[in-house]
Amino acid sequence: MTFRLQHQRYRLPFRGTVRTAHGPWSEREGFLVRVEAEGGGVGFGEAAPVPGFGRETVALDFAVLAALGDTLDDVTLAQVPSECGAVRQALAAALADARGEKPALRHAALGVAALLPAGRAVLAEIGPKAEIGYRVFKWKVGVGEVAEELPLLDDVCAALPAGARLRLDANGAWDRRQAERWLERCAGRPVEFVEQPVAADARGAVDVLLGLAADYPVPLALDESLVGEGDVAAWLDRGWPGVFVLKPALMGETRAVLASLARAKAAVVFSSALETLVGARTALQAAFSWSGEPRALGFGVWPLFADPRFNGPAAAPFIRREDVERINPAQLWNALL
Ligand code: MG
Repeated sequence: MTFRLQHQRYRLPFRGTVRTAHGPWSEREGFLVRVEAEGGGVGFGEAAPVPGFGRETVALDFAVLAALGDTLDDVTLAQVPSECGAVRQALAAALADARGEKPALRHAALGVAALLPAGRAVLAEIGPKAEIGYRVFKWKVGVGEVAEELPLLDDVCAALPAGARLRLDANGAWDRRQAERWLERCAGRPVEFVEQPVAADARGAVDVLLGLAADYPVPLALDESLVGEGDVAAWLDRGWPGVFVLKPALMGETRAVLASLARAKAAVVFSSALETLVGARTALQAAFSWSGEPRALGFGVWPLFADPRFNGPAAAPFIRREDVERINPAQLWNALL
């Protein structure tokens, strides 16, 4: 069956500048897509490539969408280049949506990881966040020198409420030696995992990551190393023993990626790609339908946009199934018209 395809490009300012490893980021750019079956079903998706994650850009996605024209079917979807994971994911999600293929949401609620700032500022933030109910905390590290940050680890662990778990995200900032110092110190502490200790594009990164994962008891997680479907497949082939931090928004045929992760009984953490509510709906549906062990979501990002209509459920210790079911992508589509 052929579907009618429409897209709208958006440019939405963030409420505040987002700091990334690639510099400051002040507005989100991407596309909403809408597909409609002859005689009925309508579906929506969002293509929002993340600058610095692979080669996909808004300009490239625009060219892909322009080339598709005003129709879409499975054959033309399969022709979208695999490096365009965000737009492939958006189109696949919209098609499934238009066909009425609703994923079964198996969890009533999922925890959300509280985001903690880098450096000493972390210490003042844990208490208030614990008080409102957070039990998983994500601390940004690798921003300052190891000699400044590492001594804070014990104070951070001491500030955590009973039973809480700490995630450390280095965003690829360390070299092997620096990572080793941290991983040694993490042993025996309530650290759930250390995310992307070395950069995905560092020399020999694959061997360094596999080596660190084998040498230290604390689990490691891949984030920037997973730019698209091909990366997930490659790390599964390598027998990655750690966590996969998955941004469904970038994963092309997300359902196939999730099926391969489930077959491998992989540990998966679902994460935002700072998309609007339309893309977040797809990503959260994936998280809520995941059959493996549920872990706290990397979705503590909202309110994110200056225009509140595009924000997802405000950061809270939990996202409930109803929060996901309530999202109405048509409303956002109409807001952009
Ligand atoms: Mg990360």
